[in-house]
Amino acid sequence: MLTAEVVAETGCKWFRGGAFKPRTSPYAFQGLAEEGLKILSDARDAFGLRIVTEAVDEPALDLVEKYADVIQIGTRNMQNFSLLKRAGQARKPVLLKRGMSSTLEEFLLAAEYIMSEGNYQVILCERGVRTFGDHSRFTPDLSVIPAAQRLSHLPIVFDPSHSTGNRETVIPMARAAVAAGADGLLVDVHPYPERALCDGPQALLFDMFRDLVAQARAIAEIVKQHSEAHIIGAAVE
Ligand code: PEP
Ligand code: MN
Repeated sequence: MLTAEVVAETGCKWFRGGAFKPRTSPYAFQGLAEEGLKILSDARDAFGLRIVTEAVDEPALDLVEKYADVIQIGTRNMQNFSLLKRAGQARKPVLLKRGMSSTLEEFLLAAEYIMSEGNYQVILCERGVRTFGDHSRFTPDLSVIPAAQRLSHLPIVFDPSHSTGNRETVIPMARAAVAAGADGLLVDVHPYPERALCDGPQALLFDMFRDLVAQARAIAEIVKQHSEAHIIGAAVE
């Protein structure tokens, strides 16, 4: 609730929290399930935010569909075709995270699985891919942003938190993604990251988050002005 308050104060409209957590280790915290969805719902009511939350499997999707405004499909499920089809039967937008080793074509075809069931509200999310680099948890592939926009009408957002795994790298990569034309950012924020049950090292502190929102807005404004200039320029020529 503390985080939701700050997110709403910055003017952000969407609030992402995980009630079902896809953890690498079966012994790690797995999320609060329906109890977590109720907390997210309370945050929506208290602060007027829209809720984005992950469904890790089909039973979870049945529940998430009831509580959430946007259904998230995580990187590890990007090619879980039965889950994608089930998300396509939902009548809520789906945030589809790119598989950590998938090509752009595989990513777009995963989106097609959702749309082929009649749900056309898909938001793509780049969250870093596996490379030989070990200075970053994953390697943010910012080149996929303009490439996806060239091939598809779908919006594409960027998650600098899961891509880098490290709070100090989140703001520079988020700035770069907005400059590359990203349609939004998905950022981990926590009031006490050292106490977080999951992903604390990559969570921004509140002041860093406020600073990032201001920087992202300024960069997005420049990108928008220049892309409008190109459109007008092209029309004149
Ligand atoms: C998440 O967004 O909480 C998450 C687990 O991300 P990813 O699926 O990209 O690893
Ligand atoms: Mn996470």
